[in-house]
Amino acid sequence: MSLKFKKAVEYFAKLQGVGPRQATRIVVALLGWPKEEIAKFSEVVFGLAEGINLCQDCFNLSEESKCQVCSDPKRDQSKICVVEKITDLGSIEKTGLYRGLYHVLGGAIDPVEGLLPRSLRIKELLSRVENFKKNNTNGQTKELEVILATNPNTQGETTALYLEEILRPTAIKTSRLAKGLSSGSYLEYVDSITLQNAFKNRR
Ligand SMILES: [Zn+2]
Repeated sequence: MSLKFKKAVEYFAKLQGVGPRQATRIVVALLGWPKEEIAKFSEVVFGLAEGINLCQDCFNLSEESKCQVCSDPKRDQSKICVVEKITDLGSIEKTGLYRGLYHVLGGAIDPVEGLLPRSLRIKELLSRVENFKKNNTNGQTKELEVILATNPNTQGETTALYLEEILRPTAIKTSRLAKGLSSGSYLEYVDSITLQNAFKNRR
């Protein structure tokens, strides 16, 4: 096997969810691409090194200071769906059902991996909640709902419980996605219908 080939497989196999066999398949497929396409692809990958801008409010990917979701006036400002990763946000957007805002935590609490609450964007979530309350003091308040859509696995559960605890003093309504998502799974791999139902039946 050529060294170039092996190196390429090694890199693709570093991606979460990609095993050595899949990595090999990807590299074989890439070898079939025209040279210009591969050049463009490597440019895109190289561009990632400069970092991608994140929305200042929800930490979604964004070219501007606010992402497309946050800057859309038609989105329901009284709902914040808390997810672990940008890919989870993508899965929920794909269902087309949810019309509120998001908050990307940047992971889940996982003491074994050294991921503690302070490594997540929890402070930022709290200040969004506080801001909502401040801007909503003039009577006809729309109640804020924070939907905890962390993964249905141990780390996700721990994170949701922690957030419920920390949001309790704010008297903000929190909800969780309905059970039915098989436990131990990841939101990003859940199919749209199941995810839609989990949203509709949240409590
Ligand atoms: Zn945003």
